[in-house]
Amino acid sequence: MAQVLSTIGFDADDTLWHNERFFQMTQAHFAELLADFTDKPNLMQRLLAAEKRNLGHYGFGVKGFTLSMIETAIEVTSGKVSAPVIAEILDAGREMLRHPVDLLPHARAAVETARQTHRTLLITKGDLLDQERKLAQSGLGDLFHAVEIVSDKTPDTYRGIFDRHGTGVDRALMVGNSMRSDVLPMIEAGGWGVFVHHGHAWDFERAEAPSEDARYHALQDLGELSDLIAKIESI
Ligand SMILES: [Mg+2]
Repeated sequence: MAQVLSTIGFDADDTLWHNERFFQMTQAHFAELLADFTDKPNLMQRLLAAEKRNLGHYGFGVKGFTLSMIETAIEVTSGKVSAPVIAEILDAGREMLRHPVDLLPHARAAVETARQTHRTLLITKGDLLDQERKLAQSGLGDLFHAVEIVSDKTPDTYRGIFDRHGTGVDRALMVGNSMRSDVLPMIEAGGWGVFVHHGHAWDFERAEAPSEDARYHALQDLGELSDLIAKIESI
């Protein structure tokens, strides 16, 4: 009997390895640097607004985040932020590009198990160099049939990727920690969208779960993925 699914797509950041916690550490440092000018909640609100404003210019990733921190620093100090503080912000951004890659629980086993029965893809947003570095350091590179580092995750992105590397999006499942990027556009494209819980979520990536949709599933962690795939295959 033919399989229901041919291809499993994995998100990377905060699905396979830690990421958001490095952003949060950097944000805490950023707030300390500007404590004389504003409190952390206000600063974070302004920073998020700058990041959203700049996504269309810089895309997702550490470089754009660093530029948005600088822009926010200029804003909240009414142009008085000092060059040494800007240098510290740049340092903090570079530090993020060197952070170690720590796999999340069950990440390796989930990909290893999936690839025994299905084609596996890695689909991630972010800076090209940074994502390539993290994939290399993760040791997971050889487990994927293909890797796609994309500027955004839209229904068209998923249609294109699963056409190129699989047998179409309607026989594909995407698993990730972002409702907005990994789940909703995948389901809209006609595929299966699987949300995997992660403690830290960037505000931008939050969205309502499509709970009514038969192709939507949520997992507590990647340890539950193989059972879900088996269940879908047995329908
Ligand atoms: Mg993610």
